[in-house]
Amino acid sequence: MDYNRQLLDFIKHSPSAYHAVDNVKKALESAGFERLEESGAWTLKAPGRYYVERNGSAIIAFRVPREDYNGFMIMAAHSDSPTFRIKEKPETVSAGAYTRLNIEKYGWMICSTWLDRPLSAAGRVMVEENGRIISRLADVDRDLLMIPSVAIHMDRTVNDGKKFDANVDMLPIMGGAEQNRSFAAIVADSAGVTEDSIIAMDMQLYPRTEGAVWGAENEYVSSPRLDDLQCVFGCMNGLINANDGDSAGVLAVFDNEEVGSGTLQGADSTFLWDVLARCCRAFGVETERAMANSFMVSADNAHAVHPNHPEYADRNDRPLMNGGIVIKYNAARKYATDSLSAAVFMKICDRAGVPYQRFTNRADLPGGSTLGNISSAHVSVSTVDIGLPQLAMHSAYETAGAKDTAYLVKAAEEFYACSFRRDGDSVLL
Ligand code: ZN
Repeated sequence: MDYNRQLLDFIKHSPSAYHAVDNVKKALESAGFERLEESGAWTLKAPGRYYVERNGSAIIAFRVPREDYNGFMIMAAHSDSPTFRIKEKPETVSAGAYTRLNIEKYGWMICSTWLDRPLSAAGRVMVEENGRIISRLADVDRDLLMIPSVAIHMDRTVNDGKKFDANVDMLPIMGGAEQNRSFAAIVADSAGVTEDSIIAMDMQLYPRTEGAVWGAENEYVSSPRLDDLQCVFGCMNGLINANDGDSAGVLAVFDNEEVGSGTLQGADSTFLWDVLARCCRAFGVETERAMANSFMVSADNAHAVHPNHPEYADRNDRPLMNGGIVIKYNAARKYATDSLSAAVFMKICDRAGVPYQRFTNRADLPGGSTLGNISSAHVSVSTVDIGLPQLAMHSAYETAGAKDTAYLVKAAEEFYACSFRRDGDSVLL
C-alpha cells in the first residue's frame, strides 16, 4: 500500500484545520462512521461507529465493539499547523504600488521558509442564509500571494542571521495598488457565496508547494503540514482498518495545538472527556472504571537528528528517519510518557512488527510541548507521547521518512485491536 501518495493527497486537500477535519470526516463516513451532534440526544448501538465534530476544526471518532466494553484505546493528534492568520479587511497599500494583506502569526513558524514561494488562502466563512448563520469552507486554491525577500544587495547581512518582524517583513503581496476585487470577494467566490452574505471569516495563508517523495531510493517524503497531519493520517487509517478488540477505539483530532491548546476545540478543553463520558452513560459502563482500563497515545511529530547539526540532538537518543516510531521522554513531563506507558507501547509495536526509537531533549535545551500532558489533565489515563521523526519542524516545507507513515498505520491498527486492562499492580494487554 503506497501510504505516502495517499498522505500527500490528504495534506494537499487539507490547507487549513477546517479542511483537514472535513477530510477526516469524509474518510470516516466512507468507513461507516455515523455523525452525532454534541447538541443533540445520542442513541448508540454496539457494535457501532460514530464521530462528533467541534467547531469544524476538531473531531472525535469512536468505535464500540460491544455493550460491556473494557475501556478506551485512544489516539490523539492535531489538525492545525503554524501559519499566518489573515486579518479582517486585510488590504493595505504599500509604496503606492502594491496591495498587501495584513496578517498576524498563528503559532511558531520558521519565517524565512514562507518567503519567495506562491501562497494561497484557506479557512472558513460565516454566511447568513435564510436567517441562519452557516459555516462554509473556503479555499482560494490558486497562486494568489507572495512574500518577497529583500535582495542581498540591499541587505548584505541577510545570510548572517536575520530577524523577522511579522508586522513588517511577512505581509504578502496580492497585486498592484489598484484592485478591482477585494480579498473578501475572492474568498466569497472560492466558498461559492456572495461577498455580501459573508459576516465574518477565519482565513489563513498556506504554501502552494506540493508534496514530494524523493531521495536516491525515495527515502523521504516532504510536504507542508507534516506536523501533524502525518500523525492524523496514520491514526485515522489505523482506526478505520483495525479489527475489533475488547475496548472502544477512539481517535481525537484537536485544533489549536500550535497556540497552546486552550480553546473550545483544543486538547485543553473538555471535548474528549465529554464524548467518553456520554459513551459510558449510553451503555451503562462505569466511567471511572472504564478510564482506569484506558490508554492514550498522543501522536505528534518528533525531531530526527539533523544532517548538518547533529549537535542539537541528545548524545544517545537520536531519532532517525525511517527508523520507526519515536517515543518521547521528558523529565519535566512535557511528554506524558513514563516507564509503564512506554512499556505498553513498545509491546504493541513488537506485536505489529514496527520498530521504535527514543527521543529526549538535550539536558541543556528546552523542548516543545504537545497534546499528551495537556489532555491527561482532563482525561486522566495512562499516556505515551510518540511521533514520527522529521526534519525542519515548523518550516513551510517539512521532511520525514517515507517508511515511517506505514509504520504508524500498522502500529495504530495493532493498538486499536488491543485492550489495556489493569489487574492489581499489573497490566494485561
Ligand atoms: Zn505538532
